[in-house]
Amino acid sequence: MTNHDAVYKITDLKLDNYNLLLNETLFHNANGYIGIRYSFEEGYLEDYQSVQGQYINGFYDYAKMKQAENLYGLVSEKQTMLNIAETQSLKIFIDDEEFSMFEGTVLASKLSLNMTKGITVRSVIWRSPKGKELEITITRMTSFFQLPLFTIEYVVKPLNFSGDVLIESSHDGNATNYVNPFDPRIADEGIQYLTPQNCEIIDGASYITSVTSKSNLEVCSCVKNISSHGNEMKFSIFNNKAICELTAVGKQGEEIKLIKYAVFCDSIRYANCRDQAVLELEKALSYPLGELYAQQEAYLAEFWKHCYVEIEGDEASNIAIHYSLYQLIQSVGKDQHSNIAPKGLSGEGYEGQYFWDSEMYVHPFFTITNPAISKELIEFRYTTLAMARENAGILGHAKGALYPWRTIMGKECSGYFPAGSAQYHINGDIAYSIIAYYLATKDIQLIEEKGAEIIFETARVWINVGNFYQGKFHINDVTGPDEYTCLVNNNYYTNVVAQYHLNWAAKLYFLLKGLGKINHLAEKIDLQDDEIETFIKAAETMYLPYDEKLKINPQDDSFLQKRKWDIQSIPKNKFPLLLHYHPLQLYRHQICKQADTVMAHFILEDAQSEETILNSFLYYEKITTHDSSLSYCIFSIIAAKLGLVDKAYQYFEHSAKLDLEDTHQNTSDGIHTANMGGNYLSIVYGFGGFRLKESGIYFHPVLPKHWTGYRFIIHVEDSRIMVHIKKNECFFKLKSGSAKRIFVYKKEYLLQDTLCIERSMAYR
Ligand code: BGC
Repeated sequence: MTNHDAVYKITDLKLDNYNLLLNETLFHNANGYIGIRYSFEEGYLEDYQSVQGQYINGFYDYAKMKQAENLYGLVSEKQTMLNIAETQSLKIFIDDEEFSMFEGTVLASKLSLNMTKGITVRSVIWRSPKGKELEITITRMTSFFQLPLFTIEYVVKPLNFSGDVLIESSHDGNATNYVNPFDPRIADEGIQYLTPQNCEIIDGASYITSVTSKSNLEVCSCVKNISSHGNEMKFSIFNNKAICELTAVGKQGEEIKLIKYAVFCDSIRYANCRDQAVLELEKALSYPLGELYAQQEAYLAEFWKHCYVEIEGDEASNIAIHYSLYQLIQSVGKDQHSNIAPKGLSGEGYEGQYFWDSEMYVHPFFTITNPAISKELIEFRYTTLAMARENAGILGHAKGALYPWRTIMGKECSGYFPAGSAQYHINGDIAYSIIAYYLATKDIQLIEEKGAEIIFETARVWINVGNFYQGKFHINDVTGPDEYTCLVNNNYYTNVVAQYHLNWAAKLYFLLKGLGKINHLAEKIDLQDDEIETFIKAAETMYLPYDEKLKINPQDDSFLQKRKWDIQSIPKNKFPLLLHYHPLQLYRHQICKQADTVMAHFILEDAQSEETILNSFLYYEKITTHDSSLSYCIFSIIAAKLGLVDKAYQYFEHSAKLDLEDTHQNTSDGIHTANMGGNYLSIVYGFGGFRLKESGIYFHPVLPKHWTGYRFIIHVEDSRIMVHIKKNECFFKLKSGSAKRIFVYKKEYLLQDTLCIERSMAYR
């Protein structure tokens, strides 16, 4: 497979509720602004569950957060992403029979996601209970070219009869969110957040404007149906639902086509949502649908060109990686009002809130393939910096900014602080991603205007949350990435990322000072040289836990004192542990939900010797459940770094199939975007051994035996570099830009045109 025929498809659709819910996620359409789950337009059986969700990235309402004990500073209100008006439904009637895949006979069915064209297509050949046969082809698109636009092209062909075909297309303003009181990862209370204000028909289009209950936001959705068989439509409105009916005289073998245009505009982005919806509809209708499809394909051609990756000799992995990258471009916000949620725009798990997933798993992909998107993600954090300052204040830090562990518009939404707000590493993660962006682009302007302010303000919190003790800088009572070990002293990951952050804060301060560009910012945030000296001293004396006997970095000060818990002895149906064991039971054991120290060894590998990294990997491997989808990919990367290539491949395989095979049994709640970013990282940073450091561009390629080779293209500053790893050689080509110094297996080369280097025997 190449990027040019990237299709993921299922034939002979299974019609049980589990598979339908799964496909709602796997085949959802999104463009970073809107996301539409793939529900059948005609509906399911009455007793089936469906999450017929349609979402806008960053569009939220406030919901009460219940706290059992109302301690000071605990979050009492959270933001939750809203399900907005439903515009997918379309029903077909032939005489007295209604099309349903659950009645009559489905003679053939196929559902496919075409990642080159940016569309999903369902094709069905159906025989009604009375023997009438129809061929139905439905193409859905959320446009990358016009972000508020969602289209459904519905084509019906009578195969063995001629007669009236009635199409009923609806637009329903009565939307509520999905709830599941038994899963802490999903909202637990059904509340009517959106109230429709009006539902009107203007020039053959229905408009529904709704307002949120508390956040004071507005959204307008507009639907227009255009048919190949005249536009004689009958409209009815009842209870904020507009129904448009069209009767066409169907002829055997002839297609009847209906195009359903839906646009969505919200008051976060637009001053007047209703007026904007009118304009967006006009814009969409001004192009033939074919032209909108062509623009979609052109957008994706650019995307695939920049993030080119191909695996040779392993088709399943190839599809999985293309599927992952496609989901990232579908999910990522493309303005400063949004970011990328753990489930993208494919479902309601984690309520559409943003976490560190963005910075540590998704940023790295965009930074080296499409840095303009990373820049937007940084803009989002900048837009919410004032709220991060407020948050720091709530947690008792007089100075600086602490980003919320989870948020939509900038305020903390994490109800359970031990595994939430206590994850101070988010500050270091955000700083790390800005530094990575700077290393890849040398965009000093962004640093000067926004990045440095974020980095300085967040660095200040380390000085306040930590303290000097017996000559070392300690950070106490925080939680690292592993959510099965909470509120600990000196979490290795947190301390090492804080050290890097503080060092870079000082470096950027002096860099900007040298360029004569610090005064304005220093004045604005009252930053002086002596504070920078404290940053340097804290970084120099940062305490990094190390165990002499085991020669590993303990996850924190008390981790190794705890009882072990043999993972093999835990019944399979007790995973993920968080759903079956009290948090305290988890915290008191040496058991990890996800990569923590191993993650630190990936992002800051130079802080430790290879021996410590190997010993630590082998130690944590035995006690990690990978209950978080953010884990396998990191273990894969470190295994590849250590030359444990078979192991690296096994971890990669687990990671690559996580959603496509629903191995975590919760893909119906949405895709796992961090894992998808991680799949890319496993190839480029893992097998390719790519690292971008201040000291240069590094590669340390290994090749899994299941593959005959692999290729990828990365962007560093002005250059695009193609890397092709084969059995015996590593091939590098400078596709464009200036020559670059690269290190391959630690040896330095100048890449001017092409380089062919023998693949290290040590890693064959
Ligand atoms: C993980 C976190 C992650 C969150 C959202 C949790 O299960 O432990 O690290 O940020 O999911 O993906």
